[in-house]
Amino acid sequence: MYCPSCQTTDTKVIETRILNNGMTIRRRRRCEQCDKRFTTYEMMNIQVPDVAKADGRREAFNRDKIVKGLTKACQKRAISRDQIHALIDSLERYLTDLNEKEVTTDVIGNYVMKELYKLDPVSYVRFASFYWEFDNIPDFVDTLEQNIRVQKKPILKNIINRDEDNGKSDKGLTSGPTQ
Ligand SMILES: [Zn+2]
Repeated sequence: MYCPSCQTTDTKVIETRILNNGMTIRRRRRCEQCDKRFTTYEMMNIQVPDVAKADGRREAFNRDKIVKGLTKACQKRAISRDQIHALIDSLERYLTDLNEKEVTTDVIGNYVMKELYKLDPVSYVRFASFYWEFDNIPDFVDTLEQNIRVQKKPILKNIINRDEDNGKSDKGLTSGPTQ
């Protein structure tokens, strides 16, 4: 590292501090020539791939939405905030290691569910039950936020309505002349 004052290359690290779970390293340096002190930061260059949604649109990976979804799924369970963040850290590493420009929401959902299951099967079931009704993470997390306590799911409702209709029309057909 060059000295910002005299441009010499002869600088020395006098203090190193690891920050942000090892994702950042801060170094205090001193120039051997002019005694200038300065600080440098070294940060992990993590580029999480974009998310390809089922409708063909693409959007940037949104960590906050997954944090919110997991926090709701883990409500009143023995899972700490740190564990949630560690899970998403590992998700980001996993996605980055894929070396793809974009990943599907299924890749994200499947990884999160697999890891959540190891932590707590109840939270896993909550998360999965929402996930399987939606084909993309942002939509299901939005709905998760709003409808966490809703018991009757729209899809179930539709099936029930359809059965009722069928029942009516069956009745209509069989209520004709009897033998
Ligand atoms: Zn210098």
